[in-house]
Amino acid sequence: MGRSFEDARRWMQEGTKAFLDAIGLLHGDDWDAPSGLPSWTRRHLVAHIAANADAVGNLVHWAATGEETPMYSSPEARAEGIEKGTRMSGGELLAWVRDSAEKLEAGMAGLTVDQWQTTVVTAQGRTVPATETPWMRDREIWVHLVDLATSTAFADLPEDFLEALRADVADKRGEVPEVFGTLADVTAYLAGRPYDNVALANGEPAPDLGPWL
Ligand code: ZN
Repeated sequence: MGRSFEDARRWMQEGTKAFLDAIGLLHGDDWDAPSGLPSWTRRHLVAHIAANADAVGNLVHWAATGEETPMYSSPEARAEGIEKGTRMSGGELLAWVRDSAEKLEAGMAGLTVDQWQTTVVTAQGRTVPATETPWMRDREIWVHLVDLATSTAFADLPEDFLEALRADVADKRGEVPEVFGTLADVTAYLAGRPYDNVALANGEPAPDLGPWL
């Protein structure tokens, strides 16, 4: 098993559509309601998703041109992008998510096979081939769709995506306890998100792993 590049590109397109559909249903005060992330309203979260498309787009630009363009010019610039979004209307945020996603999609669609192999550096300082960027975007768009705290739960995400996410988070975290539960619950648990029922082999509750992503 393991995810393929084609899987990652498909999840990106499906995730973008699901995210746009979800925020298209928000009205008025809905935007100021808390998200699933500490101290962030939905405005912060949605701005982060739009800014993330621009940031991943910088890596695509790097791959296309060879010019080193980091995701964010600095941690402050990342925070500023999110802060800027909190002053936008719902309509403006929706447009930013849609336009940034379209631009990212067009950028990726334009990369040649060779350009996809370009080595880029992520905001976490990981050195990866550009082929890793669709998966970076997948994680953001799907996990934060759940964090929007609308009606989407981990159990609603595509099963093959959840399998890939479970494997990736376990890998990135390194040492994780072996736990049992549904695929959605175990993945939510590993991702540091709320879950219903996850237990250790001896039936004891699983220890809290803390936040991720
Ligand atoms: Zn994020």
